[in-house]
Amino acid sequence: MGGPSVAIVGSGFSGLGLAIALRRAGFTDLTVFERADGVGGVWRENTYPGAACDAPSHLYSYSFEPKHDWSRRFAPQPEILGYLRECARKYGVTEHMRFGTEITAAEFDAAAGRWNLRTAGGETCAADVLVSACGQLSRPSVPAIPGLEAFGGTLFHSARWDHGHDLAGRRVAVVGNGASAVQFVPRIAPEAAKLTVFQREPQWVGWKWDRRYPRLRSRLNRRFPVLQRLSRLGVFLWFEALLNPMLISPRGRKVLSAHVRALCRTTRWSVRDKQTRRILTPGYELGCKRVLVSSDYYRSLNLPHVDVVTSPITRVTSDAVVTADGTAHEVDTIIMGTGFRSHDFVAPLRVTGLDGRTLDDAWRDGPRAYLGLTVAGFPNFFMMYGPNTNVGSGSVVHMLESQIAYIVQAIRALRDPEVLYMDVREGVLSAFDDRLQQRLGGTVWNAGGCTSWYLRDGRRNASNWPGSMLAYRRRTRSLDPADYRFVKR
Ligand code: NAP
Repeated sequence: MGGPSVAIVGSGFSGLGLAIALRRAGFTDLTVFERADGVGGVWRENTYPGAACDAPSHLYSYSFEPKHDWSRRFAPQPEILGYLRECARKYGVTEHMRFGTEITAAEFDAAAGRWNLRTAGGETCAADVLVSACGQLSRPSVPAIPGLEAFGGTLFHSARWDHGHDLAGRRVAVVGNGASAVQFVPRIAPEAAKLTVFQREPQWVGWKWDRRYPRLRSRLNRRFPVLQRLSRLGVFLWFEALLNPMLISPRGRKVLSAHVRALCRTTRWSVRDKQTRRILTPGYELGCKRVLVSSDYYRSLNLPHVDVVTSPITRVTSDAVVTADGTAHEVDTIIMGTGFRSHDFVAPLRVTGLDGRTLDDAWRDGPRAYLGLTVAGFPNFFMMYGPNTNVGSGSVVHMLESQIAYIVQAIRALRDPEVLYMDVREGVLSAFDDRLQQRLGGTVWNAGGCTSWYLRDGRRNASNWPGSMLAYRRRTRSLDPADYRFVKR
């Protein structure tokens, strides 16, 4: 079938999934640009000890490629990366990958109805359709702490783990206590001579109901695929019917507080020290930040050489982290578990649409996109895992598959030789975004009383989808041509 030509930037769960779907739909003129040397996105980059999925793997995988032999309910990072590599191989998309190629700029040529792309190496190329599949969590965030550049020890971010640096016998500072830190702290704590976790706000951490799957289970899954589908459905319903509504509706938030707080409290009982227990107890509503799951994070804090410090970090010296109470915590290693620049979306790719307007211009008041996918004035441009498509509970892979189906429809519409380009109507985008922001106002993410990466500048929520995964699927199931301007040649 061939065209239109499609350029996809990024080969994580989203870019890879789209490439596979396009191939299966018969499109062959596609290129996946990947700055690294292999597929996998965050699952290639986050190799920290203990890195694993925190959504059950039977749901956190493509619906079209169930894996019957996940080793655990929450698969470890190497297994997820192996799964993605195998998908690329099996569906024949590796031949469309251009590894080691970073796209730095994309400019729309309205006369030709094409995107002109420039790579970091200075090469240029063009495509009819541009898809950004860079994710929300690909650019590590390192806080600008005074003195950090003068630190004389070893410093790295959790998403750029320095595996050559042996932590045995080291005095280690961990900045942050988010989803990544609760996974790697229990792994590195037994090795370190001293470990200090610098915590700004405490987290709600629930029990991780992880377990190893027996071989028999894999065999049964293979023999009776319906069993695995039922397992996937069960997890889906747990998120969709129970957890998600509780995060979204004010009434649900009350139920959540009453029941799940009690559950988390039992976990915190595993912390022996009363003072530590106190500082680990959040004062905001459960779900306001992403709910974390771990069965060993709190326990690792019981170790005699592990401390949690809540006094804010004021500066770093050549050999210490200094906190506001005046204490200099001497360390030789600092690990930043400080998350990602989640609101950069397509950065550092500079995207220029109609009339020379950049995405930065369009997003001066914050990122927004119709269904998280399209932006007015940026024709033939689609985003995956774009603004407001994150889920507070559930599987982002389910959201990505909804986006994939929508983008495939759009590309089919662009096959019409009469059509030069399609551009979402500004009025459609504004009405969608207004309604979305209104709905987000009542959710626990906006009103739960915490600071989190969901909120930009502590105000606008440009991250989360305020509905169920099924509602998003319904909204994206069929592309309404009336939402777009189809400009003819
Ligand atoms: P995160 O959840 O954003 O946590 C960052 C941590 O760093 C927070 O504790 C934050 O404190 C702290 N922090 C940030 N800036 C700081 C500063 N200037 N000084 C002191 N502390 C600072 O980051 P993450 O743990 O890397 O996780 C990010 C996201 O990745 C997660 O929400 C999740 O979506 C995803 N993730 C998923 C998995 C999985 O299994 N699927 C695993 C890991 C991560 P505050 O809380 O006070 O802001």
